[in-house]
Parts: sequence; structure tokens; C-alpha cells
Amino acid sequence: MNYSGNLFVVAAPSGSGKSTLVKALMEVDAGVVPSISHTTREPRGHEKDGREYFFVDDAEFQRMIDAGQFLEWAQVHGHRYGTSRQTIETCIQTGCDVVLEIDWQGALQIRKLFAAAILIFVLPPSLDELRARLQCRGEDAPEVIDQRMVNARKELAQVHYFDYVIINTIFERALFDLKAIVHAQRLRYATQKLVNANTFATLHIN
Ligand code: 5GP
Repeated sequence: MNYSGNLFVVAAPSGSGKSTLVKALMEVDAGVVPSISHTTREPRGHEKDGREYFFVDDAEFQRMIDAGQFLEWAQVHGHRYGTSRQTIETCIQTGCDVVLEIDWQGALQIRKLFAAAILIFVLPPSLDELRARLQCRGEDAPEVIDQRMVNARKELAQVHYFDYVIINTIFERALFDLKAIVHAQRLRYATQKLVNANTFATLHIN
């Protein structure tokens, strides 16, 4: 495939700071575009349809599955989440870098479809800190937080499938790590050869 862009897949347990990190990356790097997922969960206070997610009901989500519109989808914390095939295909055609913020199940499905996808896992510094961040967010009921903590232990056990690990203790450091991963991928031979084809030609490099 003649794809000069990169597909970054970022996974982490809820509360690890993954969304904030990815948002901060996109603020400083216009070359990275997000893939906005569909979900059957209700929007949280500040969330807007089409910005954080496309919020759909179960029937619409099922219709999209049946129509083959998802590249991957998974059941997470009792709701369904999916990545639109069209969004990714458009990015790939235009050669941009795309970042998917999805759970580990989705990340492994993406890896099967795109062997070159770059899988990044964001770890919290500790389980206590993870719970404190979920509580501090003030968006989920205590029983939802308990469920997310149970799920977090299972999610953390999947980290060995990932290419890169970022430990989000200090936000600025974690953002630096994420930027470094993105930058390094752009310097890979295959990408450089496509993006800087003229330079390669001038240098008579095949
Ligand atoms: P939240 O409800 O906290 O926004 O997200 C819950 C989990 O679902 C997070 O781990 C998030 O990354 C994941 N998620 C969001 N979108 C997708 C998606 O399109 N596919 C999959 N597999 N997981 C997703």
C-alpha cells in the first residue's frame, strides 16, 4: 500500500489521561488528525456529538455493524464503541497521520488489518492514582468507577502487545514522549522515501 501516513493507536484504561494527551498532541501538531468513534454510551456533561464521539443508539450502531461500516468495534464498560471505516480510508488516501483512541481489543483488531499501525499504551503511575483521577473527573458514579477499576486491571495486562509505553506521571513528560514517538515514525525510511521522493531522486537513491 502506498500510504505515507501513519496510523497511531493509543489505548489506556479510563482515567490514564489518554484523551488529554492526544488532544494536546493535536493542538501542537496539525499533521495528526483524530478518528472520531461512534458509541452507544450517553454523552458526558461537556461532550458534543461529532466532537468527542458520534453518539448513536443501539439500533443505529447495529445497523452500522450490519452494513460493514466499522473497521473495528468492541464492547467496553457495557457500551459499544466503533471506528468508522470511511474515516480511516479517507486519511489513508490523503496520506495524513491519524490517531485512534480506542481500547486494547480495538487496537489488536487494527493491528491485524494494518500491520504497520503503531500501538501505544498509556499507563497510569499507580492504581491508586488512577482511581483518584477517575474520582477527580467527577463524571462517573461511584459504581461506574468501581467497574472501571476492575476493567483497568484486565486492560493493563494487555500492555505487552503494544509497541510503545508511556507512563503518565507528569503530563508534560508524557506529552513529550508521545510527540517523540510520532516524530520518530515520520523519520522512518519508508515514510521519508515517499514524503521526500524528490530529495531521494536528486540523490539517485532508489
Ligand atoms: P470513554 O467512555 O471513557 O470515552 O471510553 C471508554 C473506552 O472505550 C476507552 O478505552 C476508549 O478508548 C474506548 N474507545 C473509544 N472509542 C473506541 C472505538 O472506536 N473502538 C474501541 N474498540 N474502543 C473505543
